[in-house]
Amino acid sequence: MTTVIDDVQAREARYVLQTYRRQPVTFVRGAGIRLYDADGNEYFDLLSGIGVASLGHAHQGLANAIADQANTLVHTSNLFFHPLQGQVAERLAALSGLSRSFICNSGTEAVEACLKFDRRYWYTKGEPRAEFIALEESFHGRTFGALSVTSDEHYRKPFEPLVPGVRWIPANNPDALLAAVSNKTAAIIVEGIQGEGGVRPLTPAFAAAINKASEATGALVIADEIQCGLGRTGNPFHFATLGLKPHLCSVGKALGGGVPVGAAILSEEVAQTISFGDHGSTYGGNLLACRAALVFLDQLISGGLLAHVNQMGRFFESRLKVIAATRPIVKEVRGQGLIWGLELNRDAAAIVPAALACRVVVNRTAETVVRLLPPLVITEPEAEAALDRLAGALDDVSRDKGNQ
Ligand code: PLP
Repeated sequence: MTTVIDDVQAREARYVLQTYRRQPVTFVRGAGIRLYDADGNEYFDLLSGIGVASLGHAHQGLANAIADQANTLVHTSNLFFHPLQGQVAERLAALSGLSRSFICNSGTEAVEACLKFDRRYWYTKGEPRAEFIALEESFHGRTFGALSVTSDEHYRKPFEPLVPGVRWIPANNPDALLAAVSNKTAAIIVEGIQGEGGVRPLTPAFAAAINKASEATGALVIADEIQCGLGRTGNPFHFATLGLKPHLCSVGKALGGGVPVGAAILSEEVAQTISFGDHGSTYGGNLLACRAALVFLDQLISGGLLAHVNQMGRFFESRLKVIAATRPIVKEVRGQGLIWGLELNRDAAAIVPAALACRVVVNRTAETVVRLLPPLVITEPEAEAALDRLAGALDDVSRDKGNQ
């Protein structure tokens, strides 16, 4: 007898591999920064699907472009040309100052490609190097290569042995970096702001030390801009703000506004060491993904998005500092533009359901941090209302513990 499971959560519990501990809410619709659950409740989204819904939900321009592309041609594979992939790569080159892109389907794939291209660079030079320098508190993804440069033991341990040759150093410690990098180092991989690690910004002084170590040893620099890049800090690329000089850069998340697409962006020097067949993807850079990316990149380049994020960043900073100053539960506020972390004086897990009860979506990362990654199009009145709700959730949690 076939059992028909109608309920969303019950069906998932029965049939979906249980790798995600989901919140008990089912979203069915969105509009701008708003999400609606199956009961019709309206939420302010301060997370945008972990930094993905960059243009907000159901963005008209994106929706129309996707629909038009779906009605025209979705996919042909990378065996043939299509008109859009080169346009995406051209815009990424103009924005980043790097030269060429390999388009893929996710952030992890973009990191994986950067690691492979780095290895290929050294192989082509006839001087194979296998050692990667990565930072404590880093997160670069879940495939074997990307996981190998991700620091969290919890993610790594069950899957060892990982790619060998990774050396760990603390972020923002130039001395440790300079001591670790040598002419055996294939690459130094960093996030300009460590997102999953708790919204921890790198300092310009540390970026300068990375450049210095790279110049001295030839080690390539990989900037992982999957979370902090593409406008989130008010610049097209956060590495430029830091003065970091990468040879390779990974992007994803915001790029497709929700359509899965990522890219590894390479300097011309590295690109020239890559040959036909070195890497590939069946889906990577198909017409649908590229059409979505073009809508986002057009908004970023000429839609006034960067100026808007800068303005909103100042707004968030001042409001969050007031929230922190008036609530002992918040120990520190970190971030820039539209990526913010509130370091609490306790585990932040209770904030997420409390915020949902107040109809605002946030996320907890690195145990004690409430992370905000709102859509880049959020306005001041929306931010004001959403942050009032977040403040209410912080108060609820503080009261519950009788600890304010
Ligand atoms: N790198 C960074 C900095 C990230 O924040 C993430 C995702 O959170 C990834 C890589 C992995 O990206 P994806 O989940 O799209 O594979």
